[in-house]
Amino acid sequence: NEQARQYVEDFMARLIARNPGEPEFHQAVREVAESLAPHIVASPILQKMKVLERIAEPERVIIFRVPWLNDKGEIEINRGYRIQMNSAIGPYKGGIRFHPSVNLSILKFLAFEQTFKNSLTTLPMGGGKGGSDFNPKGKSDNEVMRFCQSFMTELQRHIGQDTDVPAGDIGVGGREIGFMFGQYKRLRDEFTGTLTGKGRDWGGSPLRPEATGYGTCYFAQEMLATRNDSFEGKTVCISGSGNVAQYACQKATELGAKVVTLSDSSGYIHDPEGISPEKLEYVMELKNIFRGRIKEYAEKYPSATYYPGERPWGVKCDIAMPCATQNELNGDEAQALVDNGCICVAEGANMPSTPEAIRIFQQHKLLYAPGKAANAGGVATSGLEMTQNSIRLTWSPEEVDAKLKSIMQNIHSVCVHYGTQPDGYINYVVGANIGGFMKVANAMLAQGC
Ligand code: GLU
Repeated sequence: NEQARQYVEDFMARLIARNPGEPEFHQAVREVAESLAPHIVASPILQKMKVLERIAEPERVIIFRVPWLNDKGEIEINRGYRIQMNSAIGPYKGGIRFHPSVNLSILKFLAFEQTFKNSLTTLPMGGGKGGSDFNPKGKSDNEVMRFCQSFMTELQRHIGQDTDVPAGDIGVGGREIGFMFGQYKRLRDEFTGTLTGKGRDWGGSPLRPEATGYGTCYFAQEMLATRNDSFEGKTVCISGSGNVAQYACQKATELGAKVVTLSDSSGYIHDPEGISPEKLEYVMELKNIFRGRIKEYAEKYPSATYYPGERPWGVKCDIAMPCATQNELNGDEAQALVDNGCICVAEGANMPSTPEAIRIFQQHKLLYAPGKAANAGGVATSGLEMTQNSIRLTWSPEEVDAKLKSIMQNIHSVCVHYGTQPDGYINYVVGANIGGFMKVANAMLAQGC
């Protein structure tokens, strides 16, 4: 309605004036404001208490210098960040991203979305995010180690198992978490669950590496089930080839689908025969051990073609799973997916679809789930890692998998509850935003902060 529309425009004008030059942050906040506006204009208390204004202001932003020595013995300088967005329902929790594109806007959008995502998991975790403009591409193990040690030398004073618990994100996997955990332990002289995504033998949870990709598939299973459908016999396009994409590919295949694409920032591979478990094994070795590029897949397997400089969304598929990065799927690409008969889009990445793409998916009544709901399995399993660290026990993979599955099913139910429209269409964006917001807003009001 008109009142809600006006509320969003006024709110956004103030937000943009307060946070100039942060387009990704504006994009993430606008989406939430649009979902919540009808409720806010109908609720004098939410309006008077400025709950949305409060949620959009980080509790704390830390920016620091990260000097380190490269292999030539030269000094290099990067910028480190930690956004402590919201601690209404638990300690700050969220990943660390190492990528040359990292800036305040990107980390604030990620920390903002993390707050809602973490609330949806039902586990007691607030929202945070951190990172650096450090580019791990082409760096030696020793350079990565020295960078991580320098990064943690400053970050350690701001985090703790009951304060702020970082994990991985783009450019931060097991290797980087190991180096950062080692440095944290040396400086603080404590062996606690202050980082998640740790190695299995030193405090990590079973299934944490698999959790984001598996969880996204579990969520998509629930979406498909609302139309009496499943992964069985479906063709799936996945973008990315990192941790999330790899395990989404593994689980989708296990559930009976054929995954035909993977990508990186240089291009994508299309394998019409499907990425079998053996081929995926090769991808994992290529990416995780040799840190190679996806184009090598097409050199190894003649059934595949490499398309340099392109994204996979023009390939005909039933299910699309964007698992690379923000704004990697635009309106034209969304239209191409629709025209090619795609029925379901589940986001393994954070905010991969542009607002225009989302509009097109929803106009055509696709099953479409935003990352903050669909990819919450990663941080949920981080929450389970925190619990295991606190009780000094490790659960079995089966126990963790069962908990992950039930958390994803629960998030899906929350989305259905808050997002079902009068015509029966489930608006997962509205569902996730309202479902995630309620608990955080109530806790902030109760705590007066
Ligand atoms: N970076 C992941 C996310 O976007 C995981 C965060 C975590 O495990 O803390 O949710």
